[in-house]
Amino acid sequence: MRVILNKTFYYCKKDISVALHLTAQTQLSTQTPKSMSTIKNLIRPNIQKMTAYSSARSEFKGKAHIFLDANENPFDTDLNRYPDPLQWKVKEEIGKWKNIEVQSIFLGNGSDEVIDLLIRIFCEPREDAIMILPPTYGMYQVSAAISDVEVQEVLLTNDYQLDITAILEAVQPNTKLLFVCSPNNPTGNSFNLKAIEELVEGFEGIVVVDEAYIDFAGQASCVNLLKEYKNLVVTQTFSKAWGLAGIRLGMAFAAKEIIDVLNKVKPPYNVNQLTQNAALEALQNVERYEWERANILQQRNFLKEELMGFDFVKKVFPSDANFLLVRVKEAQELYDYLTSKGIIVRNRSKVVLCEGCLRFTVGTEEENLELLEALRIYTEN
Ligand SMILES: *Cc1c(COP(=O)(O)O)cnc(C)c1O
Repeated sequence: MRVILNKTFYYCKKDISVALHLTAQTQLSTQTPKSMSTIKNLIRPNIQKMTAYSSARSEFKGKAHIFLDANENPFDTDLNRYPDPLQWKVKEEIGKWKNIEVQSIFLGNGSDEVIDLLIRIFCEPREDAIMILPPTYGMYQVSAAISDVEVQEVLLTNDYQLDITAILEAVQPNTKLLFVCSPNNPTGNSFNLKAIEELVEGFEGIVVVDEAYIDFAGQASCVNLLKEYKNLVVTQTFSKAWGLAGIRLGMAFAAKEIIDVLNKVKPPYNVNQLTQNAALEALQNVERYEWERANILQQRNFLKEELMGFDFVKKVFPSDANFLLVRVKEAQELYDYLTSKGIIVRNRSKVVLCEGCLRFTVGTEEENLELLEALRIYTEN
């Protein structure tokens, strides 16, 4: 069994949050699993108790015409006012596009902010833990480290699938969050929806499904599971398929109770006005997104076919994302060669289960052709 538990000393905890957590768990037999009271008990006690910073502006929207409450500069530049802290217009458009109610949407300064907030909301530093499934996205670990939260790891199987039994067996009483990245970075594959559902069903904490690459996947989003499960958070982003990594806008979809606590803890103006403007503009032009997405998918298939033709390529892994994980004969040597040609790819050859692998983001047709030409020259030497 591929279980690696963090070497961190695991100790018995006697404080109230654990007591609540265990009470909630023992109650499960008589209660609907993952009822809202259970979710509430997973939240750190200090977060449960606190009240959010209140800007008061929203109360008076449409009811007043002179705003002398926030010490803003009165001269209008379209940017002299603080932005809408809850980004209602953007959420309405996202809601229409995805057919999700606005109350179930949270927006963050990138989905990285959502990851960080979730850890701060649910994990007591030096007590609680998150579980990750390597090889996977690096930010879960970084955010946990910043919050001094333990990271428990269960590797994917050799063919990059979820080891459901191993994962559920490795869960500890202090495991609050389970991060499942699907399609997974850096492997590129999606996990079976039924398998993800088994985790949501079997895990007593919160399952966070990171769908940063869902736009490129051939399967449905886990957003559809939200109706049934309260202990699920699905994150998506404007950074990949939408071509807006520069504006920093991430989305989370979850039950209203989780959205409410995210709103309570976030910095009041975490999504700035320029970002909200750019997102609204992008959402009015879904055709552009559709066209680019289709083009990237077509280029992904082209690049895959071409890469498979090279002698030095051992394997191109199946991808549901806008990148390809490729196992090659001499990863470091090829990486250095490409760098010397001014072409930067991601060297994942030292990542567990990705030995000998480079990760290629799908570029424009011109960029991909130049990459392939450089690889042809490489084989001739
Ligand atoms: C790129 C990426 C993100 C995006 O994060 P943002 O903060 O929204 O830019 C999130 N998760 C994964 C797995 C990613 O690869």
